[in-house]
Amino acid sequence: MPAAPVTPDTIRRAPKVLLHDHLDGGLRPGTVVELAEASGYTALPTTDAEQLGAWFREAADSGSLVRYLETFAHTCGVMQDEAALRRVAAECVEDLAADGVVYAEVRYAPELFTERGLSLDVIVQAVQEGFADGERRAAGAGSTISVKTLLCAMRQNARSLEIAELAVRYRDSGVVGFDIAGPEEGFPPTRNLDAFEYLRQQNAHFTIHAGEAFGLPSIWEAIQHCGTERLGHGVRIVDDIKVAEDGTVHLGRLAAYVRDRRIPLEMCPSSNVQTGAAPSIAEHPIGLLTRLRFRVTINTDNRLMSGCSVGSEMAALMDAFGYDWADLQWFTINAMKSAFISFDERLAIINNVIKPGYAALIG
Ligand SMILES: [Zn+2]
Repeated sequence: MPAAPVTPDTIRRAPKVLLHDHLDGGLRPGTVVELAEASGYTALPTTDAEQLGAWFREAADSGSLVRYLETFAHTCGVMQDEAALRRVAAECVEDLAADGVVYAEVRYAPELFTERGLSLDVIVQAVQEGFADGERRAAGAGSTISVKTLLCAMRQNARSLEIAELAVRYRDSGVVGFDIAGPEEGFPPTRNLDAFEYLRQQNAHFTIHAGEAFGLPSIWEAIQHCGTERLGHGVRIVDDIKVAEDGTVHLGRLAAYVRDRRIPLEMCPSSNVQTGAAPSIAEHPIGLLTRLRFRVTINTDNRLMSGCSVGSEMAALMDAFGYDWADLQWFTINAMKSAFISFDERLAIINNVIKPGYAALIG
């Protein structure tokens, strides 16, 4: 049987695993408009869904941090009540299922949704209900998807221990881990050591946004001081890799450690191009890191702002680097091995869903 041709339909059918996706970065533009109207939020730049979608992508592309942050002011601005959170979570699952995602860990910072008085517990419960709604609707439409939650603390605030405790409190209700997000420069991960120590004592899982814009010290601290299991982005690990003119590769000690320990890199190519962490998809370090067999995974980061899906990221990488179905299967199995659910559950998805799905495409 020959390999399946690469078309939007076959890419959609390829099983996908997503480890790095922000709930407040993935709303449907039409939903933003409707939630704004329902809640009296009047700060949107336009109430035309199509124009708003384009505005989000342009603002994220503009190179201006102020405009980029404004995009999240709007999405978070319309997610301040339980019904809105539940709807956004349910639609997130539906959109991921339609993209062929079979397992996802979606993250958000509960502290961003307390402007109108919601408690952290109510926020987590509303999002979990939304994910369950979405899984049911996806199943009704013929797609099996499992979506779990990572709770983020914002680096610039001082609530990381409280959020870590929240994550542990809901560990049996679908919250599988913790993360810190927000500006890297000036807010090293070691500011949150008490949260990471608490999580380790609880045998709980966490990842850390590190090495996106900021360099090696941030990655080193995240791994060696905080004990992170995965790296959110981790792009700058390339700064510790030297490729000589004759093609010989030399890994520094940190890069070697990351590769030897199989520390997963949650790479988000389009997002990195938008924020300037990589000049283009074709020049993105994901090419070199994949060639060197780091534990690379493909992610979306913010689907609304980047106008992307896991499928579109896969297609762009196939285009830029000539990857085939076997390569996509490798990225997908890497991601599944790196998920925060139990070993048995990961193995079941790899053997029962991912491998048969790719076998049909590889031919
Ligand atoms: Zn992120």
